[in-house]
Amino acid sequence: MNLSFTDEERAFAEEIRGWLAANLDLPPSFASLEEEIEWGRRWQAKLAADRWIGVHWPHEYGGRGASPIEVAIYNMEYARSRALQPVNRVGINLAGPTLLAHGTDDQKLRWLPSILNAGELWCQLFSEPGAGSDLAALSTKATPVEGGWVLNGQKVWSSYAQFARWGICLARTNAEQPKHRGISYLVIDMEADGIEVRPLVQITGEAEFNEVFFTDVFVPDEHLVGTLDQGWAVANTTLAHERGTAFPFKEQVVHEVYLDDLYALALQRGLLDDVDASDELAQSFVELRVLRLHNWRTLSRLARGEEPGPESSWVKLAWTDMTQNMSTRALDICGETSPLWRGAHDVPENGRWQRQWLWSKAASIAGGTSEVQKNIISERILGLPRG
Ligand SMILES: Cc1cc2nc3c(=O)[nH]c(=O)nc-3n(C[C@H](O)[C@H](O)[C@H](O)COP(=O)(O)OP(=O)(O)OC[C@H]3O[C@@H](n4cnc5c(N)ncnc54)[C@H](O)[C@@H]3O)c2cc1C
Repeated sequence: MNLSFTDEERAFAEEIRGWLAANLDLPPSFASLEEEIEWGRRWQAKLAADRWIGVHWPHEYGGRGASPIEVAIYNMEYARSRALQPVNRVGINLAGPTLLAHGTDDQKLRWLPSILNAGELWCQLFSEPGAGSDLAALSTKATPVEGGWVLNGQKVWSSYAQFARWGICLARTNAEQPKHRGISYLVIDMEADGIEVRPLVQITGEAEFNEVFFTDVFVPDEHLVGTLDQGWAVANTTLAHERGTAFPFKEQVVHEVYLDDLYALALQRGLLDDVDASDELAQSFVELRVLRLHNWRTLSRLARGEEPGPESSWVKLAWTDMTQNMSTRALDICGETSPLWRGAHDVPENGRWQRQWLWSKAASIAGGTSEVQKNIISERILGLPRG
């Protein structure tokens, strides 16, 4: 395992750190999701103006052509600064890289410029009520008509679809083919007739997710990405970016910052002499170090020009357990105030830890459930027979 950066990588880290020190707008406390999105769009436009968003994109499309190691460094520095996470995440991390790999020149010209500056937000329309882990079971149907297709069906868990101008969507275009074939990858105009977006309220009380219903939605020919009926290959590009390496590096540092804050909370509540509370903090520290070592191993592989491989499932599992455990410990440290919610008298940090605990439940589902990760580990790393 190589635990050191090159001079160029250290210089890159200093450059982003310097930019953030000079330009960072720390997010205020938002009264609503709408307010957060608007604020986030302005912040992202500021990052884009100096090419500090989508650093992995090529230069000609507004990025910096950053290497995977530089992307990891960028994510760690960004998280350390406590900046708001980019509002157009689906556009930057999923739709953009997929269009770069499979889109036509016209599609790139039309859609890429407004992704980085958050001029147009994107959502991901993959999951359906009957297709999640087994995504290829999807049944949303696109029927050919003059000049394009007519789309009918339903998507679910579509994050931020209520704010999105465009969506990347998988639809069945050929029911005669086996399930991984006959799927096409379409860009959906979220303002088209026949689309209904219904927000779903989560246990945090917020509505980031949505159900999206399509009733005879016209999708023009030029919105097909890649080859007709071969959208599964295009979807794999999107999924590889979704399950890619940037996320665990960002999350490692986000949680290092959380742990510092939790330590401060324990100190403030006079709990540092309490053996149980100290044990809990120490345990989270150890779990974070384990995640950091997993990340360093990934970095070493990237430095050798290798792919992260199925070991990224270990990383996902280590992150899931670490974040869920730390979130539970945070409530232990909140003690008798843990059942309170934001706005309540005496609730620490306006309910931040309660919200974090509720949110952490999503960790074992999003980006591939824990059971699916365990299947990958047992089959592809341990070589056990398929169940
Ligand atoms: C925070 C968050 C954001 C999301 N954002 C989006 C988005 O923007 N767009 C989008 O399209 N989707 C999104 N999703 C949906 C996400 O991709 C799905 O929830 C995920 O793929 C799991 O699918 P499912 O919920 O249908 O569960 P299912 O696949 O139905 O799984 C149900 C249970 O069965 C288990 N299971 C399933 N298959 C197996 C197996 N082979 N072996 C063992 N156990 C199995 C699972 O682990 C789980 O416990 C988001 C989810 C979350 C939590």
